[in-house]
Amino acid sequence: MKIAAGPLREGETVVLLDRKNREYTMVLKGGNKSDIRGGMVSHDELIGMEEGAVVRSSSGESFIMFRPTLAQFILNMPRGAQVIYPKDIGVILIWADIYPGATVVEGGIGSGALTMALLRAVGPEGRVISYEIRQDFARRAIANIRQYMGEPDNLTVKIKDIYMGVEEKQIDRIILDLPEPWRVVESAAESLRSGGILLGYIPTVLQVKTLLDTLKDTGNFTLVQTVEVLIRPWDAKGLSLRPAHRMVAHTGFLTVARKKNRGGNIAKNAPPRDGQCV
Ligand code: SAH
Repeated sequence: MKIAAGPLREGETVVLLDRKNREYTMVLKGGNKSDIRGGMVSHDELIGMEEGAVVRSSSGESFIMFRPTLAQFILNMPRGAQVIYPKDIGVILIWADIYPGATVVEGGIGSGALTMALLRAVGPEGRVISYEIRQDFARRAIANIRQYMGEPDNLTVKIKDIYMGVEEKQIDRIILDLPEPWRVVESAAESLRSGGILLGYIPTVLQVKTLLDTLKDTGNFTLVQTVEVLIRPWDAKGLSLRPAHRMVAHTGFLTVARKKNRGGNIAKNAPPRDGQCV
């Protein structure tokens, strides 16, 4: 993975913010110039600078420069498929309990936004296996991932339809961001280890209902929970300290479920508990 501190080097991505915090991202290349708001910024000047430096374009406008956070990179990177927003990614990592060393299966890779967060969370001892049916999306996603975090040696991308089955066994977690996650539930139940977690990210309640019904019918899952994530930004200007007028109101619902041990440590006549599929 790339070093993400110290002076900026050629090949790194930077984000420049103007006085209204509008973001402009670029990949540093010796000899290049970027046109921002009608003025030129020379990459040779930026290479070797520390993050947080103020730079001036040829038109005299000043910008503050940083390496993008993962959230900034995701929102500015080239997209094939629609990405999962950072607000949801943050919660996915905790609700699906992604931990260092975990083996995580993902379907599909899309633009690679969630994949990058998964790779960071599982770390070098972990592994992410991403299924994707579209070769062009996979190519785009891999290019995005390389640009942000260098060559990912713990990522496997499979150009395969995950509805045809998950090939890996004894996996720790499976994250599904595709239109019909219920079509993966049965093979996920086979592939997850006992105590493993399935998480589905879907935009409509009808999809949630089908996923919940399927999780219940297979009888392999428990602790099923659906949540949505609302983040309301605030404006803070002098005495005006209040919620912003606009927010991202709806993206998708997260449904999580935990794989039971069918052979069973659960006593046969134990009464069902709230949220358990029996
Ligand atoms: N989570 C991604 C976005 C995924 S968009 C991100 O954050 O960037 C959904 C992706 O699932 C698309 O790329 C689509 O091509 C892929 N997909 C849809 N059905 C699939 C299937 N059956 N098997 C594998 N991938 C699938």
